[in-house]
Amino acid sequence: MSATIIDGKLISAQIKDELKEKTAALKEKGVEVTLAVILVGEDPASQVYVRNKKKACEYVGFRSFSFELPETTSQADLLKLIDELNNRKDVDGILVQMPLPSHIDEKAVIDAIDPSKDVDGFHPMNVGALCIGEKGFVSCTPAGVIELLKRGCDGKIEIAGKECVIVGRSNIVGKPMSLLMLRENATVTVAHSKTKDLAQVCKRADILIAAVGKAGMITKDFVKEGAVVIDVGINRNADGKLCGDVLFDEVSEIAGAITPVPGGVGPMTIAMLMNNCYEAAVRKL
Ligand code: NDP
Repeated sequence: MSATIIDGKLISAQIKDELKEKTAALKEKGVEVTLAVILVGEDPASQVYVRNKKKACEYVGFRSFSFELPETTSQADLLKLIDELNNRKDVDGILVQMPLPSHIDEKAVIDAIDPSKDVDGFHPMNVGALCIGEKGFVSCTPAGVIELLKRGCDGKIEIAGKECVIVGRSNIVGKPMSLLMLRENATVTVAHSKTKDLAQVCKRADILIAAVGKAGMITKDFVKEGAVVIDVGINRNADGKLCGDVLFDEVSEIAGAITPVPGGVGPMTIAMLMNNCYEAAVRKL
């Protein structure tokens, strides 16, 4: 294997440790950082995510308020709770764990969160702010990818002027990712399911970011020698093992740097959520 591994576990731990120190300093001034987490229903994966978010809050020194509501909760009741949390001065960030039960309109819920407390960065105001280069909250996974690029390989990865290809154009990963890479002055191509000659398009990339959700679809034929490859995908392979969108074993033979799955982008998402929450508290001061 020739590629340098970009270690998301290590980098996310660094970010959380930095936040822990900054949070302790705020506490000395009498300021607490508080995240409110809402979970509707009993989806096991969502329960794990929520538990991990609460654990991360504890680690960095935030308070977390948890609202675990039954599957049958009505949209009106959920919106009422969000409204209460929007108006509470002691709540800095509000996170509603997705997906929601099918009788609740996710868009209505996202739109109801006060943009200044929208630490997931999903509210249209925050998406718009990112689009026109204004301050807001950026979706945590793409923000985490930027940190991996900036802190990985001892800070030696250049983004400005590089060809970046992003595979995937979802609202939570691909699209904000493209805007962030543009902000970092990369030349950005966004590929998707209708892209022709995907392998050839990907092969142009100095930085290739895969956010598709298809196990191992990015083979070595998609990758230029020496490219930086970031794998956002979280999938299960035929043996039920967790894997990314990138065929790690063969791509790591030719890439310059690569993120593993697990242990790459995944841990960064929660670290960036903590970062957004800290920012939400500081911006209020
Ligand atoms: P979506 O399903 O919302 O989007 C997938 C994107 O991939 C779409 O834009 C789709 O194109 C594109 N696509 C699908 N098939 C192909 C193909 N054959 N060739 C090219 N493009 C294709 O997924 P998400 O963006 O939400 O997530 C992507 C992956 O990232 C998933 O594995 C998910 O689990 C993971 N993820 C990981 C996170 C983390 O913390 N590490 C956080 C969020 C997601 P089109 O638009 O044309 O349909």
